[in-house]
Amino acid sequence: MESLNTILLHPDRRIGADMERWRKAGGGQALARAAVDPAAVREAIREADLRGLGGSGFPVWRKWDAVAAESPKPDKYLVVNGNEDEPGTYKDRLLLEETPHQVIEGALVAALATGANRVVFYVNPDLALSLAALKTAIELWQASELLDLASTALGRPLELTLLPGSGHYIGGEETAAMEWIEGRFPFPRGKPPYPAQVGVHGCPTLINNVETLAQVSHIVAHGAEWFRSLGKAPGTGTKLYSLSGDVLYPAVYELPMGTTLRELIFVHGGGLLSGKPLKAVFTGGPSCTLLAPVDLDVALDFDSLRARGGSLGTGAMIVISEGTGIVKRVAEYMRFFAHSSCGQCMSCKTGTATMSLLLDRIDTGRGTAADLATLENLCAMLPGTGRCHLITGVVQLLDSSFRHFKHEYRQALR
Ligand code: SF4
Repeated sequence: MESLNTILLHPDRRIGADMERWRKAGGGQALARAAVDPAAVREAIREADLRGLGGSGFPVWRKWDAVAAESPKPDKYLVVNGNEDEPGTYKDRLLLEETPHQVIEGALVAALATGANRVVFYVNPDLALSLAALKTAIELWQASELLDLASTALGRPLELTLLPGSGHYIGGEETAAMEWIEGRFPFPRGKPPYPAQVGVHGCPTLINNVETLAQVSHIVAHGAEWFRSLGKAPGTGTKLYSLSGDVLYPAVYELPMGTTLRELIFVHGGGLLSGKPLKAVFTGGPSCTLLAPVDLDVALDFDSLRARGGSLGTGAMIVISEGTGIVKRVAEYMRFFAHSSCGQCMSCKTGTATMSLLLDRIDTGRGTAADLATLENLCAMLPGTGRCHLITGVVQLLDSSFRHFKHEYRQALR
């Protein structure tokens, strides 16, 4: 079921790489406007309160203003981050497969607004259909007068490159992406300096997620006020929620930002499979927060979830029904994160491995009260100790599972 407010997943735009149909549906108008007044585009993005939809929720205009204020050294980069790899997240691959021109136009509008002349589409190598659609679409743009228009407005040639990522989960972190683009293993870099000042090959670099950029052309074409009105305050615009797990209709839903968890699961998702009661929801993917049925009326936007100590993350919602063991599920995710840690930070390398070991012990009935106490201590010690957000997100998962399901851990002890 689709919301009437769909703008990203509107049927007129889900046409794959067919550029002619996309132009007939209004494609290209935002780029023409951006070519005339790029500063007005930045202002519209600020007024729309567009956030980073890859998981950060960071105000997009701040990144854009920071990059726009820098001089090219000798280039400026825009990286379109499509390294989607968070378990339960399927939104960027859908946009790239079904509406690649919408993403490319948003990227070029962002390039004009910030002065970027090199645009790199950085995509998870496992997303074969997304890569194929994007490759065809980029070739069409390279032969189109729209790219010439953008290059003329920028005052230098705009270069579009498609680069498959490394296939590592951590490769989606923005500085890790820059390392891969420069030809090295995607180890996250320390910050500062921030990408806006020192990014790809030392040049000012803007990195935005696919979904974020797909929203841009609609804001430019229809105005910030219109975009804000699509959301449920304090949320603005729409959001793609990837709903999966024990739910009747798992799918990617485009709904107003700020839709409640209850509406997403029970109205759009059709409720739980076999009518079982809801037990929990991994909100924002496993590296975010575990919510319980008491949280069903929480609004799914960045600010409302942050106020509850949670995070919207990528918008993945993994539904768990009664009868599923929380300890087992958290232990499975912890194995994934221990495997995904790049190992640069001792706290993350040993922290995720230790937490995984202890969770496996508890899950298999061999854990002790001391093991549980060690996990609690790690939750207090580890947040903020890594170069990137991974270790903090992992702790958020474990900590939130303790908040609602501590009794299950105690019951599982030896
Ligand atoms: Fe690597 Fe973990 Fe450090 Fe991130 S926090 S840089 S994943 S070791």
